[in-house]
Amino acid sequence: MGMSAEYPDLKFVPPRAFGSGRDGKAVRYLVVHYTAGAERSTSAEDGAAYDQRRTDGTSCHYFVDSDSVVQCVRTTDRSNSAFGKGNRLGIHYEFCGTAQTRAQWLDLASRATIRNAARQMARDAHRYEIPIRRLSAAETRAAWYSFPAGPKGIVGHGDVTNAYPEDGGDHTDPGKDFPWDVLLADINEFLGSPTTSGGDMAPTQENFRILALLENTPTTGWSPPEKNGLHEALKRIEDKVAAPAPVTVDAAAVAAALAGNTAFLAAIAKAVADETARRQQA
Ligand SMILES: [Zn+2]
Repeated sequence: MGMSAEYPDLKFVPPRAFGSGRDGKAVRYLVVHYTAGAERSTSAEDGAAYDQRRTDGTSCHYFVDSDSVVQCVRTTDRSNSAFGKGNRLGIHYEFCGTAQTRAQWLDLASRATIRNAARQMARDAHRYEIPIRRLSAAETRAAWYSFPAGPKGIVGHGDVTNAYPEDGGDHTDPGKDFPWDVLLADINEFLGSPTTSGGDMAPTQENFRILALLENTPTTGWSPPEKNGLHEALKRIEDKVAAPAPVTVDAAAVAAALAGNTAFLAAIAKAVADETARRQQA
């Protein structure tokens, strides 16, 4: 598996089908999708692998799950995600998961997925000067018909469907209960954080580096995260990070050690990402 030339900290898995360039158009909005599939910690990798095999021509720019972002199509090219107009104007993010209530979108796994997506959306929004606000269907329509003068912003696949009824789309993702307020606040938070040059935030790699430290930490006796175990876990991580010990990076081994407890893994990943961001701001 190679790495992205555009964002070197992201895995890059090109799909079977996508369009070269943007056919005379340019990025005007970021589009939120869900996969209508699983929300496991390997779902982004699974989705990207599936797009290499599927023969129906579908693709996306990114798959996002609770612990990673996988890039499939460069943002300068168009993915086959939402018919011609949406493909030419959009950067498309597949959130691994399916229709959920607000509470379910805010559970540990989904919350971590939103956070990971927001981090990448912040980078793309910065690069393409996309304002952090959700466009209405009418504004989304104007983005095409008034191009290049139309508005820029953030939309869902359902907004694209509603904006261009002549295209005959019927997708409604990410659904009426998607927590837009949380996503937009996360993006704003990442944009407000100082980032290192070259866009090398690499929080996912950092997460795994720290998660690797857990390999030799006995987890028996830990409370589940729902019962404040997370606080204790983080304290142990902090103690280990502070210690001058060599670090073995083996994400697969860590994942295996924590297999069957993806919620815990996602909680740790999110907490470490938050802590990393906090330290960058400090
Ligand atoms: Zn979609």
